[in-house]
Amino acid sequence: MSALKKLYKPPRTFLAYRTPLDLTVATILSAQCTDDRVNTVVTETLYPKYRTPDDYVAVSRQELESEIYSCGTYRNKARFIQEMCQLLIDRFGGEVPRTLDELITLPGIGRKTAAIITYAAYDNPEAVAVDTHVIRVSRRLGLSKQQNPDKISLDLMEALPKKEWGNITPYLISHGRAVCTARKPNCSACIFRDDCPSSAMLRS
Ligand code: SF4
Repeated sequence: MSALKKLYKPPRTFLAYRTPLDLTVATILSAQCTDDRVNTVVTETLYPKYRTPDDYVAVSRQELESEIYSCGTYRNKARFIQEMCQLLIDRFGGEVPRTLDELITLPGIGRKTAAIITYAAYDNPEAVAVDTHVIRVSRRLGLSKQQNPDKISLDLMEALPKKEWGNITPYLISHGRAVCTARKPNCSACIFRDDCPSSAMLRS
């Protein structure tokens, strides 16, 4: 972590948000979609218009679908957003809950998404969020032998103090994008080249 902290200054999450509700909506939209695309849609279209769960349930499904169309699987995502907002109203007093166990009861919210919300929105990470970059880099570094993201999350939680559970995700994403890329990891230029168990293999 100290080596990564010298190298990168990532945001808490690469998704744009102002409130826990914004972040919850953005994470639903980010499934199989790039952060850049989601950020364009939420900042230009959704955030100026929607501020509360009531705002999201007040519009027609069709209207919301057309607004998020470019994020892909827009029918499911619009349904998740409206069902999630209705649940927030019915069960949580219109607020996004703070615990992982409560968050994963919401439609469209899995463990990864919930982990991001506990860290980025509430500054109390309850798990490590594992995406495709985190899977690749942590496996190459030998931090986990698992394939399943939830099991990799548990390995990283065991390897790190709790205060780093939120941090590790944007740092590994930064390293995965800049150096330890999927197609051509630049091991010769990597800060971990002398210790990484994959380095020699990937360099040869
Ligand atoms: S040494 Fe190579 S495989 Fe290991 S973390 Fe660095 S870029 Fe990735």
